[in-house]
Amino acid sequence: MAQEPPRLAADRHTDARIAEVIRQVSADHIRQTIEKLVSFQNRSTISAQDEESIKAGKGIGAAREWIKAEFERYSKECGGCLEVKTDAFTEQAGERIPKPTEITNVYAVLRGFDPKQADRIVLVTGHYDSRNSDPLNGTDPAPGANDDGSGTAVSLECARVLSEASSKIKFPATIVFLTVAGEEQGLYGSKHFAQMAKQQGWKIEAVLNNDIVGGNLGPGQDASVVRVFSEGLPAAASEAEIRRIRMLGGENDSSSRELARYIADVGRSYGAGVKPLLIFRLDRFLRGGDQYAFNQQGFAAVRLTEFREDYNHQHQNVRKDDANGIEYGDLPQFIDFEYVAYVARLNAATLASLASAPAPPAGVKMLTRNLENDTTLTWEPSAGAAAYEVVWRSTNAADWEYAQTVSSGTRATLKVSKDNVIFGVRALDLAGHRSLPVVPEPER
Ligand SMILES: [Zn+2]
Repeated sequence: MAQEPPRLAADRHTDARIAEVIRQVSADHIRQTIEKLVSFQNRSTISAQDEESIKAGKGIGAAREWIKAEFERYSKECGGCLEVKTDAFTEQAGERIPKPTEITNVYAVLRGFDPKQADRIVLVTGHYDSRNSDPLNGTDPAPGANDDGSGTAVSLECARVLSEASSKIKFPATIVFLTVAGEEQGLYGSKHFAQMAKQQGWKIEAVLNNDIVGGNLGPGQDASVVRVFSEGLPAAASEAEIRRIRMLGGENDSSSRELARYIADVGRSYGAGVKPLLIFRLDRFLRGGDQYAFNQQGFAAVRLTEFREDYNHQHQNVRKDDANGIEYGDLPQFIDFEYVAYVARLNAATLASLASAPAPPAGVKMLTRNLENDTTLTWEPSAGAAAYEVVWRSTNAADWEYAQTVSSGTRATLKVSKDNVIFGVRALDLAGHRSLPVVPEPER
């Protein structure tokens, strides 16, 4: 009988420097960020952004200016390592936009140190706009502590600890820390940003969208897990691609789903404090999020969300119902700041692992010209790769099960039938950082 190939679980990879970086994530700093965001009172996309309101610290304009200043502060502390930018545009009047409105995404770029790989991008995002019961109310309190002060705080905290680490760890690839607006009115900020990235040819390998990661303190919450949603059939797939997915059983291997599996692996390797719970679904029922805007442009993107949402504490006017004693509203007192810190650690470890890894292999092919029981895979060399790894799993397994290292060349033949498993190929650098896996295309 053939020898059992190495099981993946026995082969965890951990980088001590990345482990040190994520230890710098601070629940206390995250609390300060969320409380500051709440202090702007109403961060609806249609709330105030005139000079006077900004000065008074009220409305989305003030929130935007504060986020920018915060990124700039981190950059100053790392000797100018971050480029702080905005992506601003006017959204025309629509269902939830009463009049033409300026929407501004704020982001910081930690440029990759390897000139051959700096065009590779990994990105973390959260939306800094908020809402109360009425999506057209831009004045009454809309604290948005969880939705999505928590995700905004994750993006900022990742920027803080990874920029600080960049004097010691020279990430070959670029990391982008994004905060968008317009989410509650119709994903406008992320749609604009993703379209811009597509038009400008950005090579975004991964988008981590954190939306409602506050770990609402209430009955039924499970603070040991964070849900990771990923699309199955890619929103951007062409008819021909959908046909191939249907023929070959590829419906469980979108690039977003490979990213979700990667996050699960990072969770196991670094013990961030929360376990990624992979949900093989684009998003929750009746709900959407910014990851979809990136999926539509063909980027791998997932959504991270707490295990159990409390609908009394999101999209609600702040009020107390004396009849049932329920306190409504998305307030900081319902946030578990330690939990948000765990989620930030998972994000930071994922970003650092991907930005340290070589580029995923391109042109991965499976030879299918002859009927045979072995499987031969070929691919093109990746920038920064020292070796490759072929991973595979049973067609009914959720995650990769086996791996075989290919220490030289860009071709491998395995004594495993392609008909019975799903294969992927990933690149490794000298230190063992792994790229996202790429599922081969059949070559006839
Ligand atoms: Zn949200």
